Amino acid sequence: MSLTKTSTEIDSLRRGGLLLSKALQAAVDAVKPGVTLRSLDAIATEVIEKGGGKPSFKGYKSGNEVPFPSTVCMSVNDEVVHGLGNRDLALKEGDIVGLDIGLWLEDLCTDMAVTVPVGNVSRERLALLRLTRDSMYAGLDAIKLGGTIADIGAAIEDAVDGKYGIVTALVGHGVGHKVHEPPHIPNYRAKGFPTVKIVSGMVLAIEPMLTSGDSDIITAKDGWTIKTKDGSDSAHFEVTVAITDAGLEILTPQPKVRI
Ligand code: MG
Repeated sequence: MSLTKTSTEIDSLRRGGLLLSKALQAAVDAVKPGVTLRSLDAIATEVIEKGGGKPSFKGYKSGNEVPFPSTVCMSVNDEVVHGLGNRDLALKEGDIVGLDIGLWLEDLCTDMAVTVPVGNVSRERLALLRLTRDSMYAGLDAIKLGGTIADIGAAIEDAVDGKYGIVTALVGHGVGHKVHEPPHIPNYRAKGFPTVKIVSGMVLAIEPMLTSGDSDIITAKDGWTIKTKDGSDSAHFEVTVAITDAGLEILTPQPKVRI
C-alpha cells in the first residue's frame, strides 16, 4: 500500500472531506443541554448517507474489541476519545463533548473531530478547547515538503507549552485507503519513531488530545472509551489534510463553532 495518494484520489478525498464536514456541522449545531448522544449520531449518519457516503467508524474493529457501535465517537468531559455515540446519555449545561467522525466516499476515507461546549461552560474548559484547537493548527503550520513528520509533534508540544497534558499513548496517522495508515504522528517530541519525510501526495490526520491534568489514560469497561486516568477534562481536535506540490490543503474544514 502506497503512503501517498494520486491527484484523482485526492479529488475524491476532497469530496469526502466536505461531506464529512457537513455531517459534523449538523451534529455540532444540534449540541445543547438535554440532547442525547444517540440523537446527535442519527443526525450525522443521515447527512453522510444522503450524500452517498458510509460511516467508517461504525463496525470498525481494532484488535479483539467489539465492533464500534456508532457513526460518531462522542467523548464527554474526562473521556478523551472513542466514546460510544449510541448512548442515551443527555448532555448537560457546562459539559464539553468531543465529536470524532469518519466516512468512506468513493472508496477513500477521511477523519475529523472537534470538541464543543454544551451551553455555558467554565473558563477553564473553554481555555482547554481553544488551546487544543490552536495546537492542531500549529501542527499544520509545521507541515512542509522536505520536512519530517516529527516537526508536527514538536510544533504541537511547543504550542501547548506545558500548560496541559498531552496524551502520548494515542497519535495522529495517515488516512485514505484505510481508517488508520502509517505513519504514526505523535503529538509531542517522541523518541523511537522512524524518521518519515513529508512528501507530496501524503494525506494525514492531525489530532492532538490534551488534558487539564496528567496525560495517563485508561480504557473503560465497554472496551472502547478512553478516559483520563485522573478524571481531568480532555479535548480533541482533528483534521485531514493533503500535502501536494501546491502545499497544504485542509480536506475536512472545521465546523463553525464559537469557542
Ligand atoms: Mg483519527
